[in-house]
Amino acid sequence: MKYCIKCLIPSTKPNVKFDKNKICFACQNYQEIKNLSKKSVNKNSHFNKLFTEIKKQKKIYDVVIPVSGGKDSLYQVYKTKKYTNKILGVCIDFGLRNEIGEHNLNIIQTKLNVDVIKFSINHLQIRKLALYSLKKFGDPDLFNHIAIYTIPALIAYKFDIPLILYGENSKVLYGAEKKYENSKEISKQVLDYDFFKHYVSHSNINLDKILKKLKVGYPEKTFFRYNKKFIKKKVVFFSSFFGWDEPKHYKLALKLGFKHKSSYEGTYRNYINVDEDWNRVHHYLKLLKFGYGRTTDHVCEDIRLGKITREYGKKLIRKYEFKTIGDYYIKSIAAFLNIRNSKLKKILEKFRNRTLWKKRNNKWILKNSEIFD
Ligand SMILES: [Zn+2]
Repeated sequence: MKYCIKCLIPSTKPNVKFDKNKICFACQNYQEIKNLSKKSVNKNSHFNKLFTEIKKQKKIYDVVIPVSGGKDSLYQVYKTKKYTNKILGVCIDFGLRNEIGEHNLNIIQTKLNVDVIKFSINHLQIRKLALYSLKKFGDPDLFNHIAIYTIPALIAYKFDIPLILYGENSKVLYGAEKKYENSKEISKQVLDYDFFKHYVSHSNINLDKILKKLKVGYPEKTFFRYNKKFIKKKVVFFSSFFGWDEPKHYKLALKLGFKHKSSYEGTYRNYINVDEDWNRVHHYLKLLKFGYGRTTDHVCEDIRLGKITREYGKKLIRKYEFKTIGDYYIKSIAAFLNIRNSKLKKILEKFRNRTLWKKRNNKWILKNSEIFD
C-alpha cells in the first residue's frame, strides 16, 4: 500500500488523488481551508454576506442545518446562531440512535434554543435497503448517506427555506478533489444533479433500479433519489467558511453538556459517532475493503492540524485501527437487520480484500504497508 508522504491517507481510499510529489489533495487543500478559517472572523466574510442576503427574503426560517446531535452539528448550530436565529435543525433517524445521541440532540432545543425536526424513516424500508447494500456493496449506510442530503432538502422545499448548511465538504477535506470550490464559488452552489452526483450518490450505482428491485415505493422512494425540486435550494458547507477542526468542536460541545461513551472502538477519539451504531460497521468494512479505517482518518486530520507527527500517527494506527468489530455492534446491527450474529460476521469477512491483507501469527495484517515496517 502506498501512502501520502505528508499524512497517512492510503492510495486505496476511493477517489483519493495525489500529485506527482506523492502528496494527497487533502493535504494540499488544507492550507487553503486554514486561510478561509482565519478570514471567518471578519464581519465582511462570505458567511455574513450570505446571511445578509438570505434575511432579506423574510422566510419562516433562513436555513436548514442537518443535525445528529454530534459535536460537529452542535458547533455548527452554535456558530450559525451568531448570524441568524431562524434556524431549523433536521435530524434523520435510521433506527439505531441511542440514549446518548438523544441527550446530545436535545441540547439543540434546550440550550441553543433552535427548533428541530426529527425525521424517522420506518424500519421495514431501512432494513431492506441496509441489508441489500451491505451484502452487495459492503456498506449498510449507503442509502442512509443519501437520505442525509435529500430529506433536509425536501424539508427546505416544503417550508420554503432558501439555504441548506451541510457540515464538512468531504471531497475537499478528504482528498478527492483539489479546490472543488474556491472562495467565490462557495456560496453559489445549488443542489442540482451535478451536486447530487458528486457529493451524495458517489458510488456508481443505479438507484432507481435498486429501489424498484427492492419494491421501495412512495413515499420512501422520494428520500433515496434525486428530485428536480432540489435545484432551487442553495447549499453551502460550513467547512468552506470556518474550516473543520473536530477537537475544537468537541471542546465547545462539552461546554454545552455533550456526553460521549467512555471509549470508542476502532480509533483513539472517544467522542465521535456516539449517537448511533451504523457508523462502526461502516468504518470496519472500510478497513476490510481498503485497508484503512477510522484511526487513519483521525490521524490524518491531526497531522494536518499539526497536533501529531506522521511517525506518531503510525503508532496510533497500529494500536487502534485493527480491532475486530466488537460484540456490542454485531448484536445491535444483526438484531436490526433481523439476521443471526454469525451470518453478519460472515458477510463482513467476505469483504476483506485478500490482495491487501495477510495473516501473521494468526492475526490479519496489511501486506507491504509501512504501518507494519
Ligand atoms: Zn496527505
